[in-house]
Amino acid sequence: MKYRSPRGTQDLLPEDAPRWRYVEATFRKTCADFGYGEIRTPMFESTDLFVRAVGEHTDIVSKEMYSVTAGGGETEEREAFTLRPEGTAPALRAYVQHNLAAKEPLTRLFYVAPNFRHERPQSGRLRQHHQTGIEALGSDDPALDAEVIALGLTYLHRVGIRGEQLQVNSVGCPQCRGAYRDALRAALKEHLASLCGNCNRRYEANPLRILDCKLEDWDRLTPLVPDILDWLCEGCATHFATLRSTLDALGIPYVRNPRLVRGLDYYVRTSFEIVHPGLGAQSTVLGGGRYDGLVEELGGSPTPGIGFGCGIERVLLACEALGVTFPIGPLRPVFVVTLGESARLPGLALLHELRQAGIAAQVDYLGRSMKSQMRAANRANARAVLILGENEIQAGVVGLKDMATGEQRQVARSEVAAFLASER
Ligand SMILES: [Zn+2]
Ligand SMILES: [Zn+2]
Repeated sequence: MKYRSPRGTQDLLPEDAPRWRYVEATFRKTCADFGYGEIRTPMFESTDLFVRAVGEHTDIVSKEMYSVTAGGGETEEREAFTLRPEGTAPALRAYVQHNLAAKEPLTRLFYVAPNFRHERPQSGRLRQHHQTGIEALGSDDPALDAEVIALGLTYLHRVGIRGEQLQVNSVGCPQCRGAYRDALRAALKEHLASLCGNCNRRYEANPLRILDCKLEDWDRLTPLVPDILDWLCEGCATHFATLRSTLDALGIPYVRNPRLVRGLDYYVRTSFEIVHPGLGAQSTVLGGGRYDGLVEELGGSPTPGIGFGCGIERVLLACEALGVTFPIGPLRPVFVVTLGESARLPGLALLHELRQAGIAAQVDYLGRSMKSQMRAANRANARAVLILGENEIQAGVVGLKDMATGEQRQVARSEVAAFLASER
């Protein structure tokens, strides 16, 4: 075979599509129920946007982006574009560009879109994966954090996932995080030799990210590192306490995970993940947090915000691993079987008439025998077969075989569509 899909990408075949549609429809319905409106942004943006929003020194920006330069010539400057590696930056760029804050001080957005990252194929991650996400902009009320979390949980429950665990944490704010960072460095200083190479690099630039490292022995390290809760300023401490009491009031169980952190300065306060213990190493299904400095970073006025992202592939894998089945009924078309050349055009006319009436209908295009056409009807999972030959045409009727009961009868040609519509 000469051409294959690029490494780290997948084709979605017709047999897979109903599961995807079900998950996406469940997400859209849940967002609508919570008052979130859909936003669709371009598949690519200025490279600068992601450098600014995601951070120059992150893995995403330094080695995973698909970037091109385009344009040029006499009058035009070449421009650098990047396929979207994540969903928050494009949504916030649009929020600022269209001044959505002026229309509605609390703006709630959702999206369903592919993300592109040049991941190492052996990591099991895809280079094009599909993300559902939401962003709520304009309020720093911890009750909004609880709403964002509740939306994520409601979505996963509606899909059919059970037994998940909500983990929450606070990552403080620029006022209180500096002191915590120093305390963390001091505590880890003697243990640097035992930490991985990445963590040694993170130690100076961004020691909070060390807490995130999956390679370290946290049974040993956890008692040694300070807890950020002891370092939160009053505003951050109150915010986190209110989030917890709101989740309690909503009856949403959670555990606090003190190692749940985010790497960049505009991520503040709430950080959360929904994980499933039944999923092994890749147990995170959905993750998000508050980013009160990001809109300003992208050129808007200071605007608090919070959101989450959730991979569709990850949700489907979780459902598969957990044995979740979707209430997707197979499409049951009717199948038009024609006998002989003289029945061909009347058969096609009948097919077209049924489709115009909104009835799923199929026909054979391979010139096959009646027996083969019947087999094709079976493969198509037909609920009924309509048989049309010279005799039926002369009599103004159609033979109708119910595929469930095997029962066969004749229906007047003029009444077939109405009859089948009433049978659905
Ligand atoms: Zn703080
Ligand atoms: Zn490490």
